[in-house]
Amino acid sequence: MTKTGIMSTEKLPTRSENYSEWYNQLIQRSEMADYAPVRGCMVVRPYGWALWENIQATLDRRFKATGHVNAAFPLFIPMSFLEKEKEHVEGFSPELAVVTIGGGEILEEPLVVRPTSETIIGYMYSKWIKSYRDLPVLINQWANVVRWEMRTRLFLRTLEFYWQEGHTAHASEKEAVEETLRMLDVYTDFAINEAAVPVIPGRKSQSEKFAGAASSYTIEAMMGDTRALQAGTSHFLGQNFAKAFEIQYLDPSNQLQHCWTTSWGLSTRFIGAIIMTHGDDQGLVLPPRLAPIQVVIVPIYKNDAEREKVMSVAQRVYAELNEKFRVKLDDRAEVTPGFKFNDWELRGVPLRIEIGPKDVDKNVITVSRRHIPGRDGKSAISSEQVTPQVDTLLKEIQAAMLEKATRFRDANIHEPKDYDEFKQIIQNGWALSWWCGSAECEAKIKEETKATTRCIPLNNPEGHGHCVYCGAEAKEKIYFARAY
Ligand SMILES: [Zn+2]
Repeated sequence: MTKTGIMSTEKLPTRSENYSEWYNQLIQRSEMADYAPVRGCMVVRPYGWALWENIQATLDRRFKATGHVNAAFPLFIPMSFLEKEKEHVEGFSPELAVVTIGGGEILEEPLVVRPTSETIIGYMYSKWIKSYRDLPVLINQWANVVRWEMRTRLFLRTLEFYWQEGHTAHASEKEAVEETLRMLDVYTDFAINEAAVPVIPGRKSQSEKFAGAASSYTIEAMMGDTRALQAGTSHFLGQNFAKAFEIQYLDPSNQLQHCWTTSWGLSTRFIGAIIMTHGDDQGLVLPPRLAPIQVVIVPIYKNDAEREKVMSVAQRVYAELNEKFRVKLDDRAEVTPGFKFNDWELRGVPLRIEIGPKDVDKNVITVSRRHIPGRDGKSAISSEQVTPQVDTLLKEIQAAMLEKATRFRDANIHEPKDYDEFKQIIQNGWALSWWCGSAECEAKIKEETKATTRCIPLNNPEGHGHCVYCGAEAKEKIYFARAY
């Protein structure tokens, strides 16, 4: 076992040396998460959980602003519930954890540990919804779910993970489709404006859609190694679950109708998206709007006299900033400033403030922007009225991170003219290609190149061309990429 965490002095592997080792070690050394004793399970440590709490808060605000309320549904679901929707059970069966014994007794009916909650919530909705006046029902829950994955990776794919799942029921198809797209918009807005992750919203192909959905929508993000990550999904479930669970209502003319339902989710996987979109060879680079610590203050001194002088300014600046920002004064005496710099760089704190005796004499403080390594990211600002200056800096950093990630994404998306070029592009980027819509072409491409369809972008231009694989007439362009 290698020693990990704050006191580790080993260098992080670079991304070009070994991207996946960089990712794994970074998560453990920055104390975001650790491996649990059960294979494939993860412990989210306080620093990682603080990031998740910030993600939760900003999403929850958006859910409530769009009319949703939170509730909590049970962890256990009767096995028979899953079997009611054919595609759903086929899709989830291989990943189920099933409880057969409870309190020392063999259970009459096995209980599934929820992999997702359409079935149990559908069952409850069928009890609660009677009339068109009860609609729409717009409920979200923050929960953990279990999917027995074979190949796991911290945050990206773990046996148990944390997420939110929204489940809504509507009187009409039109309303349910609108809801599906509204929540896709909410996710897109969150990803771009809070996480500075420039996702591409779009529709999944039929073979990539959620098991039991009529159609699935996704936000797709490009990671630092150009692989794609599905970072959030919104599903139009049609009447599939309404029919399986008899979610029905009496319309204004007293006719019994099936509801139209949706579900949508975003999970702790998104933390992986943030790490791999912004991280560099020094460690995490966290977007200011979500960072657990936005500003760290490091005092620099050589003796007691300097310490006194520097600390009085450091404490004043801390007190001022603490009114508005998530700020930390690193006054540890047992480690050097250099150690602290590396430590906070590893943890991705967006802005570092250094205060030394010379700074105090000149009434300045030195600021270092995490997303611009080295001297280029450093400058001096006045040590008076620090709050408005830091506010501006954090906004600039947030914007610059989005711009940098967007530039990287766009530089790595290409439109191939033929399948040979497609195979080249896919090695190190995404291909936006004409596709005839057939599952066979999709499967062949996957088999030959490991690239999967990511999404048909919402802003797909009108037009037509020839399928990149079979050459048949194609009406839509779709993104292909190797994905996590
Ligand atoms: Zn084709």
